[in-house]
Amino acid sequence: MSQQKGTIGVTTENIFPVIKKFLYSDHEIFLRELVSNAIDATQKLRTLSSFGEFKGELGDMNVRVSVDKESGTLTVSDHGIGMTAEDIDKYINQIAFSGAEEFLAKYKDKAEAIIGHFGLGFYSAFMVAKKVEIRSLSYKEGAEAVKWECDGSPEYTMEATEKAERGTDIILYIDEDNKEFLEQARIDTLLKKYCRFLPVPVISGKEQEWKDGKYVDTDRDKVINATEPLWTRKPADLTDDDYRKFYHELYPGQEDPLFWIHLNVDYPFNLTGILYFPKIKNNFDIRKDRIQLYCNQVYVTDSVEGVVPEFMMLLQGVIDSPDIPLNVSRSYLQSDTAVKKISGYITKKVADRLDSIYKNDRKEYEQKWDDIKIFIEYGMLTDDKFRDVAMKFVLVQDTDHKYYTLDEYKTLIESTQTDKEGDLVYLYATDPVAQYNYIKAATDRGYNVLLMDGQLDSHFISMLESKLEKSRFVRVDSDVVDNLIPKENKKDVDLTEQQRNILSTLFRTTVPKVDKAEFLVSFEALNPDANPILITQNEYMRRMKDMAAMQPGMAFYGELPDSYSLIVNTESPVIKKITADADNALAAKVTPLDETIKADNDKIKAMRDGAKDGKLSNDEQGQVTNLEQNVEHARNEQTKLIREYGAEQPLVKQVLDLALLANGLLKGEALSNFIARSVELLKK
Ligand code: ADP
Repeated sequence: MSQQKGTIGVTTENIFPVIKKFLYSDHEIFLRELVSNAIDATQKLRTLSSFGEFKGELGDMNVRVSVDKESGTLTVSDHGIGMTAEDIDKYINQIAFSGAEEFLAKYKDKAEAIIGHFGLGFYSAFMVAKKVEIRSLSYKEGAEAVKWECDGSPEYTMEATEKAERGTDIILYIDEDNKEFLEQARIDTLLKKYCRFLPVPVISGKEQEWKDGKYVDTDRDKVINATEPLWTRKPADLTDDDYRKFYHELYPGQEDPLFWIHLNVDYPFNLTGILYFPKIKNNFDIRKDRIQLYCNQVYVTDSVEGVVPEFMMLLQGVIDSPDIPLNVSRSYLQSDTAVKKISGYITKKVADRLDSIYKNDRKEYEQKWDDIKIFIEYGMLTDDKFRDVAMKFVLVQDTDHKYYTLDEYKTLIESTQTDKEGDLVYLYATDPVAQYNYIKAATDRGYNVLLMDGQLDSHFISMLESKLEKSRFVRVDSDVVDNLIPKENKKDVDLTEQQRNILSTLFRTTVPKVDKAEFLVSFEALNPDANPILITQNEYMRRMKDMAAMQPGMAFYGELPDSYSLIVNTESPVIKKITADADNALAAKVTPLDETIKADNDKIKAMRDGAKDGKLSNDEQGQVTNLEQNVEHARNEQTKLIREYGAEQPLVKQVLDLALLANGLLKGEALSNFIARSVELLKK
């Protein structure tokens, strides 16, 4: 042929500057594009050959990527179908696109989008090259080899050339700013990233060996890729070891995965892949780069947001689908119907797999439960569909480390833990050591206590409360055991009004100061063997504070003091003794003050009731104020008497300290006082 000159058919002249300058960050993807083209050309020829349309020898079909530092070139060669001059005219010289300017303006910093949108794969070479040469010989009989050249302006030249082997060489004259792409090591890294699993062997450089104190090239070609990655093979042909090995190839240095799921659909969309459940345990961070996305074995991205539901991001592995639109924005992706179906399909597969392990190998499932728990809970909290399925196989664990499904657990506690309103009460502990006393009290009573010490458990509990009918969760230390699950016929507290007042003041004034804590004294007629004093924390306040710790917007709750109930067990022999002693020592002094208070209060009431139109005269108001001061004075006097009495009562201090101790609240000076006092008591 005679030399042909022409202008590349783009409607805008500035496509190359755009490709070169604006797309700086994604420069490296040119290699993926060129190698993908080479692979496509190779596979097309294979296909033609298998249909008998190409009758020649296929021969060496490898794709080669070679760098030549001296001439400053990087060459991608294949032995695929090649191109005739007509092919080049049609596929390379005519870039069909419309509305280009508008589109470029919109996506000017997203090379991926532009290149994909216009099928500009080949032209991405100009991101790194000052000149690009195509040398190609088509597979067609009698074809003439052709050389095409372009320096990045819209002008190209095309002429006949000599080329012995079928296929295409794309030769990039790397420009000054991109010399890195002449380094074999850089090319190796890129090929490993994008081409690791391509279906045709990709060769670049030579295998090296250790010789005379350094690495030197051997004469063996270095093959970059595994052409049949595991996900493209039939699950029936694979062993567990194969899956594990592949996992470690993808994620070196990680522990063995727990389970995996081999995905394989071809209708209504095409999708293959393998998803692994990694060991997550408690370091709960959602890393969004765990799953790698491929398109026909070409690596595309490790950012799968929008393609899989959020909770799946805890998984690892590979998804390969030509049906995921890759060159669109993430928000568009999420509304894409194909992607929605894919996401739904993956969710269902994961749920099915978990369900089948649960059904077929309960033991294995339980063994791995602690590792997958956070994944399942996260899934249930964030994905309604998954939650509905997972309600069947989510497990709860009790403080004896036994596992139950929700149904099994309900059956277990139904007869013992239903309260008088017919509601089922799930008891739980968050810290088996700190809450030991309460757990023991509850289990002694025949109750079962769940262990809810996971990072998501507080949210998980709220979710279960909203889903399980007539059920509520109560933390085991939120009340005395008799009150955790309110039942009929509770015993009444057997104290006079005065005894209540004395005891209440006695304990309130004697309890050591605890930082940021408030104590409210109340009385319960509990089992005589139960502790004399118990300390509990209000369930609602505690939950609010727990949530506050996780959510910045709720800081207000976090600032409130912890309010504890100091519950006095009036049936305890120790409390009975304290009551009797206090009665003996204080009644004679407290009674006259009580009478004064009562008499003065009566007077105040009578004056208020007798006031005309509900209004007191100035004189009357003065009298009332006086009386009120009297009452307050008498109260203070009582408190003082009782406090002074309490200060001399080692028994009172001892029962209070024991209760604090049981809750980890006895510290510092109060703790050392307790120890000293205990020693004194032992001497008696
Ligand atoms: P796309 O690959 O998205 O179609 P490209 O710009 O990368 O866009 O390539 C345009 C066309 O040029 C390809 O569709 C193919 O027909 C042809 N082509 C590119 N590279 C090769 C090659 N190495 N061998 C044969 N044909 C090629």
